[in-house]
Amino acid sequence: MRLANKVALITGSGSGIGRSSALLFAREGAFVVVNDLDADKGRETVEEIMSQGGRAWFVHADVTDPDSVRSMVNETLAAYSRIDVLFNNAGISGVGALHEVEPEDWDRVIRVNIRGVYLTSKYVLPHMMEHTSGSIINMSSCIAEIGLAKRASYSATKGAVLALTKSMQVDYAPYNIRVNALLPGTILTPFVENYLRTSYGDPEAAIASLKTRQLSNELGRPEDVAKAALFLASEESSFMMGSPLYVDGGVVFGKNA
Ligand code: NAP
Repeated sequence: MRLANKVALITGSGSGIGRSSALLFAREGAFVVVNDLDADKGRETVEEIMSQGGRAWFVHADVTDPDSVRSMVNETLAAYSRIDVLFNNAGISGVGALHEVEPEDWDRVIRVNIRGVYLTSKYVLPHMMEHTSGSIINMSSCIAEIGLAKRASYSATKGAVLALTKSMQVDYAPYNIRVNALLPGTILTPFVENYLRTSYGDPEAAIASLKTRQLSNELGRPEDVAKAALFLASEESSFMMGSPLYVDGGVVFGKNA
C-alpha cells in the first residue's frame, strides 16, 4: 500500500489517464477524490473503484472556475480534513498551426490547461502549507520538449505547465511540498481517439503512423502514466523536486533511424 490512507485529489479523472490513476491510487490505499466536468464519467470512475473495494468520492467542478474549484477543495477538506496529493491532470487538446487557431479556441486551451492548474493549486496549497507536506503532480506533455506539427496552442500550455512546475517547487520546498511534472508521449485515451477522428481521414492509418514515433513502436497506455503518477505521489519519489518525468516510449530522447 504505497498511498495508505492518503487523500488524493485527481482533476479530470472521469476518463483516460486520470481514471486509470484514480483506480491505481485507490488500489494502493488512497481515498480518491474524483473530479471531472462530466459528472456521469466521474461517477463511473467512483463506481469502478468501489466495486474493487476501494474508497472514492466524486466532486463536480470546472477547473477553470474559481468558485467551483474553491468549493471542491472546501468540500474535500470538510469530508476528509486533508489533501495529501493533488494531481492536476485535467486538460484538453488544441489543434492547428498558430495562424489557423481562432482566438476563442486559443483562450479555451489556455484556460483549461494553465488556469486549471493555477486555480486548483492555489486553493489546495494553503492547506498543504499549513500541514507542511504534500505532493503535487502537474500534467505537462513531451510536446513541451519537442516540436510537433499543428499543435501550437496545446504545446504552449504544456510548456507553461513545465515552467510553472519548476517555479512552484522553489516557492513551496520550504513547506515540504514537492511539485513535479509528468511528460507523457502519445497515450491511447479518449482524448487521442477524438483528436485522431477529427484530424485524420483514416484514424487507423494515423494510429499506425503515430506508433512509428516511439522507439517501442507502440502507443502508451493510460496505466503506463498512472504508474509514474503513483511514483510521484508516493514517498518513493521523495528526492524528486521540480522534475519532469518522461513516459513517452523514447520520443524525446531517442530517435528512430
Ligand atoms: P481525457 O481522456 O480526455 O481525460 C481528460 C478529462 O479531463 C476528461 O474527462 C475531461 O472531461 C476532463 N476535463 C476537461 N476539462 C475539464 C475542466 N475544465 N474541469 C474538469 N475536468 C475537465 O484525456 P487524457 O488523454 O487522459 O489526458 C489527461 C491529461 O494528460 C491532459 O492534461 C492531457 O493534456 C495530458 N496528456 C495526454 C496525452 C495523451 O496522449 N493522451 C499525452 C500527454 C499529456 P470532458 O471529456 O468532459 O472534457
